[in-house]
Amino acid sequence: AQGPIETDAIIIGAGPVGLFQVFELGLLEIKAHVIDSLPVVGGQCVELYPDKPIYDIPAVPVCTGQELTDNLLKQIEPFEPTFHLGQEVTVVQKREDGRFDVETSTGTQFITKTIFIAAGVGSFQPRTLKVEGIEQFDGSQVFYRVKDPSKFEGKNIVICGGGDSALDWALNFVGKAESVILLHRREEFRAAPASVAKMKELCEQYEMQFLVGQVTGTEIKDGKLAEVKVTGADGVTRRLPLDMLLVFFGLSPKLGPIAEWGLDIERKQLKVVDTEKFETNVPGIFAVGDINTYPGKKKLILSGFHEAALAAFGAAPYIFPEKKIHMQYTTTSPKLHKILGVE
Ligand code: FAD
Repeated sequence: AQGPIETDAIIIGAGPVGLFQVFELGLLEIKAHVIDSLPVVGGQCVELYPDKPIYDIPAVPVCTGQELTDNLLKQIEPFEPTFHLGQEVTVVQKREDGRFDVETSTGTQFITKTIFIAAGVGSFQPRTLKVEGIEQFDGSQVFYRVKDPSKFEGKNIVICGGGDSALDWALNFVGKAESVILLHRREEFRAAPASVAKMKELCEQYEMQFLVGQVTGTEIKDGKLAEVKVTGADGVTRRLPLDMLLVFFGLSPKLGPIAEWGLDIERKQLKVVDTEKFETNVPGIFAVGDINTYPGKKKLILSGFHEAALAAFGAAPYIFPEKKIHMQYTTTSPKLHKILGVE
């Protein structure tokens, strides 16, 4: 197995603030590894509103969540950050040498001098089905994401949800699975109209079925989930035999493991010691963006950008104890031009 990656800085969260943290650290010649539990960068901007316009980014009259993210990625390109996506940071532990051990849910390990928590509202996790006893089938018969589509071939599958993920997977499995039933609590969908139309067409051809209703119970036989009980809009509960249940109820953020790292927390937010460095109560760990709290805090992207700049200066002494750090203008500093590769 590969040993831990040694680095000066780790950024937890690849939302707009985590991405801009790369830039501010880069100007100070600090390289960073960026970790996010989502498979893509952009945080809330990409997960919650990729196509919606943002009007309050200074000097950018309007841009969408996706455009902001793309521009940030372009801006940080010179600093060559390493991204570790699709993995949640689970462990942060102070070492005897003053650095930190960091570990992710997929087993990637780091030793770092500083940590920047830009975790926003927490890591996005799939919303689960709230039915008693269903958890025991997680990963065997009940799934919240599809890692290996071949697992579902030839199976009788029930897919819950009314968004794009539910529709896309339902359409995808028609013809591959033994049977496909889409189950949604109402007739209206939050998915692309073309997918909804395709689904209805397949239902008319008896290739799949659509039912209005909610899972309200289970039937377990020989330790297996044999049936789900579905209560329809008419109030009648029916039994639905199945092999696999796929649930796509969207993602909801959870503070998750961050709560266990010995940091001062106030109403699910990380308290920073001051607004000079945005350092937490643990020296060497900084909190920026939506995750932090201090008197006057506003959960705005521009506030996060400012915090990232000051946190970078605050962290520099941990990485370069001997060096005196001066602020320089990107416009005029030959040194910064070199760093930015714009000489
Ligand atoms: P986030 O964008 O929340 O990103 C945090 C990232 O950290 C996430 O990707 C998450 O998966 C990851 N993460 C968390 N915990 C872990 C962990 N343990 N391990 C790995 N990864 C983890 N703001 C404005 O300024 N202007 C606007 O017009 C505006 N419009 C908005 C509209 C909507 C609909 C919403 C929901 C928000 C809007 N906001 C707006 C707020 C803005 O999106 C947030 O302030 C901003 O996204 C915060 O950025 P962030 O980088 O701090 O956190």
